Amino acid sequence: MTTPTILIVEDEESFVEALTVGLNREGFRVEVALDGAAALARFHEVKPDLVLLDLMLPRISGIDVCREIRKTSTVPIIMVTAKSAEIDMVVGLEVGADDYITKPYRMRELVARLRALLRRAAMDAGALPAAAVNSRSLVVGDVSIDSDEHIVTVGGEPVSLPLKEFELLHVLLSNAGRVLPREMLIDRVWGMDYVGDTKTLDVHIKRIRGKIEPDPSKPERIVTIRGLGYKYERSAPSMRS
Ligand code: CA
Repeated sequence: MTTPTILIVEDEESFVEALTVGLNREGFRVEVALDGAAALARFHEVKPDLVLLDLMLPRISGIDVCREIRKTSTVPIIMVTAKSAEIDMVVGLEVGADDYITKPYRMRELVARLRALLRRAAMDAGALPAAAVNSRSLVVGDVSIDSDEHIVTVGGEPVSLPLKEFELLHVLLSNAGRVLPREMLIDRVWGMDYVGDTKTLDVHIKRIRGKIEPDPSKPERIVTIRGLGYKYERSAPSMRS
């Protein structure tokens, strides 16, 4: 994997320095823009993997920078605010940021969020462009899932799944044929702030298997990739065979 490039848009230079050092240490490449106009120019030049965007900026505000970037790009954007009250305001404006963080924040928290967003973006980019994206209904073999109606069927028979099982199966089916790391699945279904036991993932997988596998003790649809995670077999056998 190549080094991700983070575009920092921030007008407080002392802050920029500390951020640059910290993010370099964590293995990110860092580009800096000191105001909103420079941010838009730098954005097109360096094509960053993620933008860390301060809300209060000279010349063009963070909100306008975010809106401008969103006209042409789905790059992950983290909006940085000075007060948590500002988050509500910015979220209300629906400018299209993916996450929000309030100053002062811990480096560790920032890095965790950066990584989570980058993983998610990589996953979206790699997701199958098939029918899955256009329609809300996904079909792999004889398993189908409809996210609008919240319905799963196996061999035409409806199967009832609680929310997290449903979301987990949806991620697996959307990426059928690909190995999905445990970390990515947890992040995707339980969110980046999840601090619980990672056994939760296995428990959910087990429950889903119990509902969709012909023989849950010998899974053929959701297979375990030892040391990595899980994969939904694209050519999973049908329930009747
Ligand atoms: Ca500022």
